[in-house]
Formats: sequence, C-alpha cells, structure tokens
Amino acid sequence: MGGTSGRLTARGAGGAEAMTKPLILVVEGDPVIGCVLAGALNRAGFDAEIFQDAALALESLSRLSPDMAVVDWAGPDCDGLGLVDSLKAKTRNLMTILFTGRGEYEAAEQARLSGRVDVVLPKPFNLAEFLNTVSACVNSRSWSPPPAGEDAGGGVLTGWLALDGREAYFEHILDSLIDAVMMVDRLGRIIYFNSGARRMFSFRDQSVGRLTLEDICPADNPLSDLVAHFFGPHPPVSEQSVGYFLKTGGTRFYTMFSASLFQAGNHGSAVLLVVKDLSASPVLFERTAAETRQLERLALTDPLTGLYNRRYFDQKLAEEFRRMERYGSPFTLLMMDFDHFKQVNDRFGHLVGDEVLRQGAEIFGRTLREVDTLFRWGGEEYMVLLPETGGEGGLAVARRLHRLIDDQGQWEKLASGLRVQVSMGLVSLPWVKGRPASLNDVLATLDRALYQAKKNGRNRIVRYRDDQDSLVEA
Ligand code: GH3
Ligand code: MG
Ligand code: MG
Repeated sequence: MGGTSGRLTARGAGGAEAMTKPLILVVEGDPVIGCVLAGALNRAGFDAEIFQDAALALESLSRLSPDMAVVDWAGPDCDGLGLVDSLKAKTRNLMTILFTGRGEYEAAEQARLSGRVDVVLPKPFNLAEFLNTVSACVNSRSWSPPPAGEDAGGGVLTGWLALDGREAYFEHILDSLIDAVMMVDRLGRIIYFNSGARRMFSFRDQSVGRLTLEDICPADNPLSDLVAHFFGPHPPVSEQSVGYFLKTGGTRFYTMFSASLFQAGNHGSAVLLVVKDLSASPVLFERTAAETRQLERLALTDPLTGLYNRRYFDQKLAEEFRRMERYGSPFTLLMMDFDHFKQVNDRFGHLVGDEVLRQGAEIFGRTLREVDTLFRWGGEEYMVLLPETGGEGGLAVARRLHRLIDDQGQWEKLASGLRVQVSMGLVSLPWVKGRPASLNDVLATLDRALYQAKKNGRNRIVRYRDDQDSLVEA
C-alpha cells in the first residue's frame, strides 16, 4: 500500500465484467484514506484507481479514461481545484467530486456554481454519503438537467440534486418537510400523504386511500367547499386560505394551507394540498390570526365612522330574521337619515359634514346596549338592529336617540350656525297580522316609514304598526 509509484490499484477482479464497471479515479494524498475509499468503491460495485500523486493521475488519464474523478481540495502536491481544471481540460465530460474542509467550502461552492466542479462534498463525510454521491453522479449520466437559464416550465434541480434524476430525491424532499403534503382525488380520498402529514394528523396505521378529506377537514374549513371546484368545469389553478383541520383523534388545529390543481395526465386530476400547522408556532399563529381578524374587520367596517357596514348588516339581519322565524324572537330595526345633509355640506364644507357623521355615530354608539348593533347603511343613513326588542321598546330607543341628536348645543360648538336633525323609520317584528314574505319586505316597509317621516316635515319618527298595517308618527 502506498508504494513509491504513488498509485494504488483497486480494480475489481474479472476481465470482461470489469470493463463494464464505472471507473472512479481518486486523487488522495493520504494512503490510508485512499485504501479505505478504494475498498468502499469496490464493494459498491465500482472500479477505483487511487493516486497519491497529482501529476501521475494526470498522466494516466488518457489511458484509463475514468468516468469520474474524486479530488481533495488540499490535493497531494497541487491545489485540488487546479487539478480538477487540468483533469477536465484533458477529458471532456469528466464528472468531478471535490472534497472540502470547513474553511474552503464557500470557495468550493463558488467553483461549483461557476461549473468548474460538479459536486462539492464537505468533510467530514461518512462512507455511505461518499458512495451515495458517487452513485448519484454515475446515474446522472442517463439524465441531463435542463439547460441553465432556460425556463423548463417546472422547478429546476441544480447542484448535487441535479445529479440523481428527477424522481430519486423527491420523496426524500417531501418527507423532510415539516409541512403536510397530500393529494386528494375526485372522490375525496387521500391518495398520497408525506411523513409531515402523518405526524401532523397523527395518521398511524391508515393506508393511503382509506382516508378521506372528510376525516380531517371540518365543514367550517373553506377547503371543504373549495375542493369540489377543483373537479368542476372551471377549476382554479390554486387557492390559499386559513382554517381548522382535525387530527385523526379529533383534535382541531389551526392551519394555513394551499390547494393546487395537479394534472396527472391520463389519470385525471387531483388536488395537491400543502398544510402548515400554525398552532405549532405560537408566533405565527398569533400573527396570522390577528391579521385575519384585521382583514375581516376591514371588510365589514366603514373607515369614516368605524361602524359596521352594510355587508355586515345584511349578515346580521339575516341571522336575526332566521331566529325570529324559528323561535319567534322579536327584533326592531331603526333607520335614521340626516335631514338636509346636502345643505350641511354645502354651507359648512365636507369636513364638517364628515365630523357630524362621526360624532353622530359616537352618540348613537354610547347610548345603545351591548347587544344592539349600529351600522352605517349608506352615506348619511344609519341603521340600528335591536334584538329581543318589540315595538314599544324600540320606540323608546328611537326617541332617546332622536333627542340626543337634537341637542343643538353640541353642533353649535362644531360650527357656528350648524343645526343637525334626523328623521327615523321604525319596524318591529314579528308581525301579528300577516308575516313579511321576506327580508326585502321588511326593508321596503322600513324605507316607507322613513320616507313618510321626511314627507311629514322631517326631524321626526314614523313607525310601522303591523296591527293596523299603517305608518304612524310617534
Ligand atoms: P333629506 O333630508 O331628504 O335626507 O336630504 P339630504 O340632503 O340629507 O339627502 P340627499 O340624499 O339629497 O343627500 C345626502 C347627502 O349626504 C349628499 C351627500 O354628499 C352627503 N353625504 C353622503 N355621505 C357623506 C360623507 O361620507 N361625508 C359627507 N360629508 N357627506 C356625505
Ligand atoms: Mg339619505
Ligand atoms: Mg338625508
């Protein structure tokens, strides 16, 4: 071993068979390491030529025509990278692996990125890693990576990953993810899940295909409605959202997920899900939940007054209407419209107009009960929803609000000569005689009451009396 020639031969035995084995040329100054590498390569089915001397390795190149060269950064009698350059200059398409110590890793990476070397293997490595890398390099001959810079339409594998064909590492990559990756077919069956999903959902012995999306996706998760769209006539490409999932034991946990359309050629399509468990990261959970709440609030509120908007009113009114129909729970709707508000703007300017709207909202808000909700219905129109409140109770609230707005001292302070008044319409449910056919019926009646208040001279309250089926001034 070692020898003065500086070359250690480790060709596997057997003539014809030996010719078919890949030949690995290893330039390694330390004879013991050289022998260990040669032995490992032989056992793994490679032929190996070990050189202690760089010049000799270069000389033998044309005679041996190796498939690959393995060189140490701190080469025996030259710098490893220079040796790689020389080896590559002499043999076209020679694959090269460069061992590096910690200190040289960055420089070696630079060399790899610029294409001077194919693979960088940082020390210390174990023999299994070494053999895997060599195998990957040899196998890569059957697959060429997409040309650099060209958009191949998919993800691009580079570096050592590019060396081992597309499939070999994908499962490993997917199983190394902390996130759950799953595929769902059109029947809702989970036809693939990675190790992350197994951990996240506590899948134990379940085999793929027996689990369905229903097992893990509760009805309040937007995905439960969304997934059908992916198999519909106009499937989305991808969607992202947040929502709860269920572990197989039934525990709910909050997640952020993406769902993407996965086209599987003749097999049709599937939905590819990537789920991130937000409850596993309190910081992420809090931030996402807070941002979601903020977005929801923004979607449902009016920026000028901070009141809920008409969209939220529609939701709340529909809920209240259902409660009334199901349990007979009464409620009252109060609609208010500032009188001659156009003139307020015209005389005092829009900024004063805005301030009136803001202060009006504050006055109403201060006066109402916690269960009552105030909405900005439109420009200078507000709506109050009073649950569990009948006609008399509703009227008392309307009178109180009307009085508070009609206190002209507060407006005088805002702008000299400013006067502010409101007209109000009032409807209470349920109706004793006849039932409103729909919510629109209720809103149309309310509108009529308000219109009547305007028509009767403004600055007043008009209430719909369902027992008399008439509008009466209150
Ligand atoms: P009426 O007594 O019949 O209700 O008369 P009006 O002038 O109040 O009613 P009209 O519907 O003719 O005009 C409503 C006015 O409210 C016109 C519009 O510029 C004003 N307005 C609506 N939204 C805002 C707002 O956000 N800020 C301000 N400053 N004015 C607004
Ligand atoms: Mg109006
Ligand atoms: Mg008005």
